[in-house]
Amino acid sequence: MIIIMLGAQGTGKGTIAGLVSKETGFPQVSTGDIFRKNISEKTELGIKADEYISSGNLVPDEITVPMVKDRLTWEDAVNGVILDGFPRTIEQAEKLDEMLKEMGKKVDLVINLVTPREEIIDRMLTRRVCTNQECKTIYNIKLNPPKVEGICDKCGSKLKQREDDSDSEAINRRLEIYEEKTSPLVEYYDKKGILKTEKVSLEINRMGVDVANDLIKMLQK
Ligand code: AMP
Repeated sequence: MIIIMLGAQGTGKGTIAGLVSKETGFPQVSTGDIFRKNISEKTELGIKADEYISSGNLVPDEITVPMVKDRLTWEDAVNGVILDGFPRTIEQAEKLDEMLKEMGKKVDLVINLVTPREEIIDRMLTRRVCTNQECKTIYNIKLNPPKVEGICDKCGSKLKQREDDSDSEAINRRLEIYEEKTSPLVEYYDKKGILKTEKVSLEINRMGVDVANDLIKMLQK
């Protein structure tokens, strides 16, 4: 089962992917998390990716695509994966289709998360993430704060704000890139008949956790 979480930054892709992964056992493959882990470990890949990520730009396909291809061959991905943050362009989607075809697989379901822009910006500014790379739990200091300020409820590690979430220029750049390069994927997957659009918004009192619960129920049927 190959599931893709699609949606602009701050719509809850990571939170939903994490919850669904826990229930289904399909690993959450977040390209952003893989990059951040490499950046914190100062690997060659991390050093290369950092210059793009800190300015809110996409990391080039020569780096991103082989990294995903390799991750899909891991033992834990045999029965399925939840892709969070990949693909982000039509080219990446086509490359994903190719690599899955070689493996005798295909994309089964794409969850398209839609949130009003003002809410997205507010969520990015109030998002905090656990610094423990094995945990990576995501909080929101307004909507879902930790019990103790700055400390992860689950593992006790420090929480921090992502660098690209604290810089308004990088936030705007990421949203522009989403509109220009990633949003055409909605039509790409809709045409294949595998797209499910979900509005996540305070306006309708529907948050990521609600979408995750419905998705888990659907997958367990
Ligand atoms: P995310 O955690 O998904 O918001 O990703 C953080 C950053 O990592 C993005 O702003 C990009 O710079 C980079 N990134 C993540 N996924 C991709 C991808 N599929 N292609 C290119 N760059 C990516």
